[in-house]
Amino acid sequence: MKFIVTAGPTREFLDPFRFISNPSSGKMGFALARAARDRGAEVVLISGPVSLPPVSGVEFIPVVSAREMRLAVRSRLPGTGVVIMAAAVSDYRPVRYSPRKLKKGSGGQTLSLVRNPDILEELGKSKGELFLAGFSAETENIIDNAAKKLKSKQLDLIVANDISAPGSGFVSETNRAVVIDRDGLVEEWPLLSKDELAERIVERILAMKDGRG
Ligand code: C5P
Repeated sequence: MKFIVTAGPTREFLDPFRFISNPSSGKMGFALARAARDRGAEVVLISGPVSLPPVSGVEFIPVVSAREMRLAVRSRLPGTGVVIMAAAVSDYRPVRYSPRKLKKGSGGQTLSLVRNPDILEELGKSKGELFLAGFSAETENIIDNAAKKLKSKQLDLIVANDISAPGSGFVSETNRAVVIDRDGLVEEWPLLSKDELAERIVERILAMKDGRG
């Protein structure tokens, strides 16, 4: 079974020195890549800029922007059975990129942004047999919002977490997740280390692929 796992943030540059991004550490995606490898999968890990040691036995493709991540995912799709999008993809990028450093003036500045492609949503539109798992980082109405994303992006599984709760979120070592599957089954998992959570997610995906639940 071939897995594609995405991890980390993306960076959307305004000029050579400045970018829009988020504090994703990449830990969840890296843990998922290890967990899938340990279950015998062939794993391609596509990650935005992070400072984590490489995962042995896994093909690593570093990317910077959402558009680069999209191209990397699409180029690796043939033969893939499972895509887990754990990356915190920037929803927007600056309309213009200035190859020269932007100078400050005396007044304020307005930044114009444009939507980035939604990698997962695009995959959902032509998924066929591909198993799609996504993450949903929320600060309110966690289950409702995650269930909506599962439907609109045509996912098989979504892992939602409350990024404002203690012990959960982008940079922590642990996560408390709510997992919703395509049949609408909602499971509230206890606070787990990201490694334990990754193992459970991979186990759940393999069970669904085998028709075990
Ligand atoms: O940003 P949102 O909450 O919609 O993210 C839900 C899922 O969609 C995540 O798995 C994320 O990796 C994915 N996503 C994506 N491309 C985007 C934004 C989000 O694949 N541009």
